[in-house]
Amino acid sequence: MIRVRTFAGKTVALFGLGSSGRATALALMAGDATVAAWDDKEEARANAAAEGVPVVDLSSADWSAFSALILAPGVPLTHPAPHWTVEKARAAGIEVIGDIELFCRERAASAPDAPFLAVTGTNGKSTTTALLAHLLRCAGRDVALGGNIGTPILALPEPAPDRVHVIEMSSFQIDLTPSLAPTAGVLLNLTPDHLDRHGTMENYAAVKERLVAASRYPIIGYDDDYCRRIASRLRECGKEPDVFSVLGSLENGWFAEGSSLVCNTTWPGFQGPFADLAGIRSLRGRHNAQNALAACIAALRLGVQRDQLGPALATFPGLPHRMEEVGRAGRVIFINDSKATNADSTEKALAAFPKDIYWIAGGRPKEGGITSLRSYFPRIAKAYLIGEAAEDFAKTLGNDVPYELSGTLDLALEAATRDAMQSSGSEPVVLLSPACASYDQFKSFEHRGDTFRRLRSEEHTSELQSRENLVC
Ligand code: ADP
Repeated sequence: MIRVRTFAGKTVALFGLGSSGRATALALMAGDATVAAWDDKEEARANAAAEGVPVVDLSSADWSAFSALILAPGVPLTHPAPHWTVEKARAAGIEVIGDIELFCRERAASAPDAPFLAVTGTNGKSTTTALLAHLLRCAGRDVALGGNIGTPILALPEPAPDRVHVIEMSSFQIDLTPSLAPTAGVLLNLTPDHLDRHGTMENYAAVKERLVAASRYPIIGYDDDYCRRIASRLRECGKEPDVFSVLGSLENGWFAEGSSLVCNTTWPGFQGPFADLAGIRSLRGRHNAQNALAACIAALRLGVQRDQLGPALATFPGLPHRMEEVGRAGRVIFINDSKATNADSTEKALAAFPKDIYWIAGGRPKEGGITSLRSYFPRIAKAYLIGEAAEDFAKTLGNDVPYELSGTLDLALEAATRDAMQSSGSEPVVLLSPACASYDQFKSFEHRGDTFRRLRSEEHTSELQSRENLVC
């Protein structure tokens, strides 16, 4: 745990008692601050109290006693309207900050040279953050991985010159971190997202821009207009961002050419291809080439050697529920992409397999459905539709793709496995990439993906048993 000493002897209000809120309260208390913590949910308050966090009703508290409001990132700061605790903090004239801001202040006070990598973007944050941590670990570095992925930042070990903090940051977290100044900052891409919380795309992009603008080494994806404009603005301020693309070669930058990662910069001794993603199952698809480029550049900036990258990329285990290979049966591969909760994400999965896709899709539908995926329909051998979206998706597929209304995941997997096993293709894929939220039939996308993995392994076990019976 990181002891937060910058509020020693002071009293702070804290709202939002999820796992990062509780870790923040304990870190502040360990640094001799007094905490008054609250959450709308009774269960969250009870969990916090059980861990020794003082629970105080902030709606009736005396705010003149507080030095700051520490806000959980899920709580609205500005849009659609500031949360009532934010209004109270403003009326009391105190700052509103988040847990990563507390980390930044501790780092500045106790270990300003401690390496700190921050990763953001609309898509690919978790994959890139995990891959970057993996590259650094393979190079023998002591890595603390967390933030918006896994462990809350203040539950990680203290910053130190020989320890690298690799931190995923959402736009909400950046918004609550005014003194953010990472060693290297990665901005992967920008497409409209969370506009209910940021008001406009411009506001959303401006928040993300702060992360790279404040970094010593800004690393920026060059494949959308918003990111390109951010890179130009940094250049106008005299910075030299590393830019990278998966859409084409760059004159002064990094890019993917097929599966090959290429450097075309003035980096000494570094011209040309430097790694190849061919055959790396955890990094299938062009979107993962974008993530891999970003992670490699950041690792290199932190002193990882060129020849360490290839072997480390090849051993990246990937993250669960993101194009995760969960099994094979003969030529058939089974992919769990349950994290794909909208058509944009599913597009990445369909783009990664050229043909023979046995596609399991559906759940609670998102606006727009799957019409944007039409150009990938020729790759789909058959679709197996589940959940609330099934009828609607069937209408979109029409006569272009054979489908069945499976209804539930178990029936869909059974049918898809049967059909894929009979395919003559060289590598048929049973792909769960639902393009829908999971809440109609599952607790979460993780629950949906875990169910897929479990059903697959049960099926695998019964396949083995029936083969054994045949032998007997
Ligand atoms: P995030 O943490 O930003 O949500 P993840 O790494 O968890 O991103 O990936 C979530 C989904 O987003 C993946 O399943 C994939 O469909 C898609 N994705 C991953 N990387 C990228 C990328 N670089 N560009 C676009 N989409 C991506």
